[in-house]
Amino acid sequence: MAHDIALLPGDGIGVEVVDAATPLLERAAETHDFEVETTRYEWGSDRFLDEGSLFPDDAMDRLADHDAILHGAMGDPRVPDYVTSIEGPIAIRQAFDLYVNYRPVRLHDAGNTPLKGYGRNDVDIAWFRENSEGEYVDIGGRLDRGGGSELAIQTSVYTEKGVERVVRAAFEAALDREGYLTNVTKSNALRYGPVFWDEVVEDVAESYPSVTLEHLLVDAASMDFVLRPDEFDVVVGPNLFGDILTDLTAAVTGGLGLAPSANVNPDGDAPGLYEPVHGSAPDIAGEGVANPIAAVLSGALMFEDLGEESAADALRDAVAAHLADDGAPHTPDLGGDGTTANVVADLRSRL
Ligand code: NAD
Ligand code: MN
Repeated sequence: MAHDIALLPGDGIGVEVVDAATPLLERAAETHDFEVETTRYEWGSDRFLDEGSLFPDDAMDRLADHDAILHGAMGDPRVPDYVTSIEGPIAIRQAFDLYVNYRPVRLHDAGNTPLKGYGRNDVDIAWFRENSEGEYVDIGGRLDRGGGSELAIQTSVYTEKGVERVVRAAFEAALDREGYLTNVTKSNALRYGPVFWDEVVEDVAESYPSVTLEHLLVDAASMDFVLRPDEFDVVVGPNLFGDILTDLTAAVTGGLGLAPSANVNPDGDAPGLYEPVHGSAPDIAGEGVANPIAAVLSGALMFEDLGEESAADALRDAVAAHLADDGAPHTPDLGGDGTTANVVADLRSRL
């Protein structure tokens, strides 16, 4: 059995971490008796600067032919960030209607985090970020009226279908886990979108009487993710809140260098897009010190969705053993002085 993977490294450390993770994924495949075929697409900011677009016109058709896409990140100081985001990964999520952005958050080792006193796996959160609409629909406008009275409008869109499907996916996950779902909202101050979102959550909840549902306002939630992260199980929230709060939950549990994500459409056969939560990190790009673990764990999520659970577990076990070993080389974001290559070699020895 061979899985056909598109590699879309992108820019900056996106390239470094995808190049680091790929041989480890191939190794895990080899030891679990399956093959991965990879096709590397050199699309990103350099292409934008040379040819005027991040992707060629037929990019989505070409990506559609693969079983899954492993992405690094896009973003380059020479290109506006809204171009690399909206015409980059957001365009892929939209093209394939990848409406669930699944972001697992796990505490490996509290030593390098604010959570001193917590043990491994004391924090284990499954984030379901709505990934197809909300604040990221790219609808709005500007009126350049001059005279200091410019005006800009950015619209959010919540549809019944769009909210219902991601909320249902989160309830389903809660059934498989601890049976506890937190809905992150802002329906006290935003009476149209978020109030509607909450109503849909309540409707879906009727089909899941065994799941305990908690509603948290996003401002209070951001505090609770720092003060009591161990009490969460599954969390669901709109696109923008999910984007912001998953950087926070990543930071609390060890940093962006460890946080993976899966963009998927559970209903169809579109390829999923697997990528670290982090961006292209221009501040450390080219130095060879990016932490590749978020990319490796994104590869584990990809293997899991491709039905290769034991290879996914092998990758996660190697990462857990690496993180628990104080003598292993860790990258500077974790307080070590190891390089990306050192971490790859260490993980390779554990596979
Ligand atoms: P970032 O995630 O790139 O970096 C934030 C901080 O975390 C930086 O200090 C960086 O050095 C550190 N960091 C991130 N990943 C790391 C890793 N693997 N190892 C060690 N340290 C790591 O966020 P930013 O600086 O806000 O954005 C930089 C660029 O990335 C921007 O152009 C932004 O638009 C883009 N971005 C892209 C994506 C994506 O492609 N999906 C996501 C987020 C940001
Ligand atoms: Mn983000």
